[in-house]
This record gives sequence, C-alpha cells and structure tokens, in this order.
Amino acid sequence: MIRRLPVYILLDCSESMVGEGLAAARRGIAGIFSRLGTNPQALETVHVSIIGFSGKAKVLLPLTALPDAVVPAVRLGNGTALGAALELLAARIRDEVTRRDKVQRGDWRPIVILLADGKPTDDLAKSLKVYKSTVGDLVANFYVVGCGQDADLRSLSAISDILLKAESMEAGVLDRLFFWMSETLTEASRSQDDKGGRSMLDSLPAGVTMVDARHLPDADPVADFYLRALCGVKRRPFIMHFRWNPATEAFESHRSHAIGPDDIEPDQEGGAGETVDISAVSAPPACPYCAADKYVICGPECGTISCAGGVMRGPEGPTHVCPKCEAKFALANGLGATSLRVRRG
Ligand SMILES: [Zn+2]
Ligand SMILES: [Zn+2]
Repeated sequence: MIRRLPVYILLDCSESMVGEGLAAARRGIAGIFSRLGTNPQALETVHVSIIGFSGKAKVLLPLTALPDAVVPAVRLGNGTALGAALELLAARIRDEVTRRDKVQRGDWRPIVILLADGKPTDDLAKSLKVYKSTVGDLVANFYVVGCGQDADLRSLSAISDILLKAESMEAGVLDRLFFWMSETLTEASRSQDDKGGRSMLDSLPAGVTMVDARHLPDADPVADFYLRALCGVKRRPFIMHFRWNPATEAFESHRSHAIGPDDIEPDQEGGAGETVDISAVSAPPACPYCAADKYVICGPECGTISCAGGVMRGPEGPTHVCPKCEAKFALANGLGATSLRVRRG
C-alpha cells in the first residue's frame, strides 16, 4: 500500500482577502497542484485537502489524491473563525489519516499550511487545545503564514513554531509564497523522512520572513475594515476597503472592489463584530460600477448599504430604492453620522 503524504491547506476567506489576495490564493493553489503533478513522487504520494474559514469553517476539498484534485470555489465571508478551522482540521486528520501502529506503516505525517491575514474572531486558545490533544503529535510541520500588515502574529504564534510573515498581500509576494510552498511539498515527498520539507525554511522567497515570536511588538496594529455594499444602479455587490492611518488616527478611504455574486458567502447574521463610528471615516470610495460616491443605508431592519447612483428626483425630492429589499425612502446624505455595526473580516 502506498504511504500517502497528507497536505492540509487552511485558507482565510475573510473579506480582507478581497482583490489581489483572493485572486492570488486561487492561482496559488492551482499552481501547487500543477507543479506537484510534474513530480512523480509527489504525484504518487501527495493527497491534498483545503479548509476555508470566514464566519464558519468549511471543508472545500476533502483529502484527495493529487491527480483527482480540483481547485474548489473560494468564497469570502464575514469573520475569521480560525479556532473553528483548527477544530475541523483536527477532526479531518483524525478521520482521514492512518496512524502508524504495530500492523501498518500508516501514512506519512501530515503537513499543514495556514494562510491568515487578520485577527481570529473566535476562541482560538480553546480550539488550539482540542487540536493539540487530538492530532498535535501527528502533524509533521505546521506552516503558519501571516499575510499582510493586519495579520495577528501574536495569536498565530501560539499555533506553531513555524511562523512566517508575508510582508504584503500583493500578488508578487503571494505568488512567490505559493511557489515556495510547492517546492517545500515536493521536497517533503522526495525525502520521505517525515520532516515535512523543513529544510526549505533556509530558502524563503523575497518578501517572506521567519518571525521570532519572542520579538513581536507589544501593540497589535489596528486592522483595516471592510464594508459590503450594493450598487443602486446595477445591483451588484462590492466591498469598500478603509485603511487605518496611524498619523491621523483615522480610517481613510482606500478603494472599492467589485465582486461577483459567486465570490461571497451569503451574509452571515450575528457574526463577530465591533461597532465603528462611521462619522469618523473620510468620504467612502466610489462605487466601482457607476462611480457614485454617496451612499444610503437602508432602514434599521435591512441595513444594506447601497450607492446612491440610482437616486430618482421626483416632485417630493430625491428618493432611493434599496437594491436588496426594494424599500423606497427619501435620500439621506452620505453614510450619515450614525454608528454602524461593522464586522471586520
Ligand atoms: Zn453604483
Ligand atoms: Zn433594504
């Protein structure tokens, strides 16, 4: 019987991955599959699984032999349920990986790769205990990669002694990271020594560094925030990205990302979140579909933010129709000076 080399990829699918992050992740996973496929040993032994997490954790690809592996759809959602992802990982490894015992050699020890770009929104410490007591002894190497400036390296450092930082979410850095990951997995399948390709840590790509958890800054960075909105004209979704400016201590408009309906999970109600005072935010970025730069929040029930590009000017003044619930109301200017519940991705 072939000893399989199980590889689990845990992918952060929070809204902060929007844009280049999501595109690079899709491209990167496809690249890992195809490059490993050109190596006879990897082709024979590597089995891959992908677990995505945003508000919830979900198996996107169960453990599958490389020739049969297809890149799954990756959708963005609210929240960063990293704890739930670790518990799901533990359950999957327990069920899918054959341990070595007196009668069988079992599989090679699994390799886990985690890509995270924000701060966990659930109880990571509790879930980490579950993971460690279930399969912590079995995993060969757990590669934890904090991506971009908002990655919570302090939380991530509790997961593994291999903590890497990708300095930005730009395509070049992430592409090199995924290329390095495929080299690492090739090395792990070639050497067949249960060391999980650890020697590749000596040749990290440009823009990726090993982090010493003992020397992390005391204060966590203020994470950017993201708002979902719909175009009032085209009714299509987009995500507005606001960046924290430490010099002015305020969030500033960065840009809007048009997204397809298939790029996002349906809105998850009651996700983790915090209240951010929108009145402290500079003018929001323009709608990527119709370029309108004024926004309307639909009543307390619906809460949908839509661009004001479809405002009608009737005899009673400007009116707006919510593209989500069809409610019609008089236009309020801009985002308004109210506090708004914002769920950070
Ligand atoms: Zn619009
Ligand atoms: Zn509405």
